[in-house]
Amino acid sequence: MNERGDGSRSDGRVGVAVPAAGSGTRMGGVRKAFLEIAGRPMLTHALRPFLGDPRVVCVVVALAADDAESPPEWLMELDERIRIVVGGDTRSQSVRRALQAMPEDVDVIAVHDAARPLVSTETVTECFDVAMSGLGAVAGCPTVDTMKRVNSEYRIVETPDRSSLWRAQTPQVFPASVLRAAYADDSLEGTDDAALVEKTGQAVRVVDAGPWNIKVTHPQDIVVAAAVLMHRLETA
Ligand code: C5P
Repeated sequence: MNERGDGSRSDGRVGVAVPAAGSGTRMGGVRKAFLEIAGRPMLTHALRPFLGDPRVVCVVVALAADDAESPPEWLMELDERIRIVVGGDTRSQSVRRALQAMPEDVDVIAVHDAARPLVSTETVTECFDVAMSGLGAVAGCPTVDTMKRVNSEYRIVETPDRSSLWRAQTPQVFPASVLRAAYADDSLEGTDDAALVEKTGQAVRVVDAGPWNIKVTHPQDIVVAAAVLMHRLETA
């Protein structure tokens, strides 16, 4: 046990990169990160477990150009560790820009999507601890559905073995040098961070975050996220 008495490692400096510059097309073109859920902007919920960890020394949020130029007051007043950068055309480009604004002296860097407001403190702590030990850590959960590979004509071409399939979520947390090396080539793109790190041959493991760490993508996801957050507030 450390001085926090919770078994987590108290040493090490963590930087957090938060891609929040998406256009929210599947939500009807709304600025998703600023949407209010259970009384607070989605981004506030997504940041809360990170800001609560004293190992976090900097949080770089990538926003769309207009928003980065005049960020909302509530965001600037939330915590002095928060910095804003202008995001890019893709998630990978937004993460890359956040990494460029990150202090050099962090040991570990976490990437967390603004669109995941249900991330828990336990998941953040476990991912930080795994990355502090030198491995990459990806929050996720085993798939309960049978998965199909489908071609452009909707024909099923393969049924992969479900027992080895996980859904990858965020946070995705890595030793800082590992993540920086993975993002060094400007032309590389991935739908998550581990996809780029895996290409470098570095070891990455999953951390079971359960099925509720959803990515708010479609309008109905807001209903689910609000219900889970309200339930947590009522039972806290
Ligand atoms: O598009 P996707 O669902 O993968 O987005 C995941 C996260 O990446 C969201 O939080 C979104 O705001 C962010 N993103 C970004 N810059 C983009 C596209 C997505 O920061 N150009």
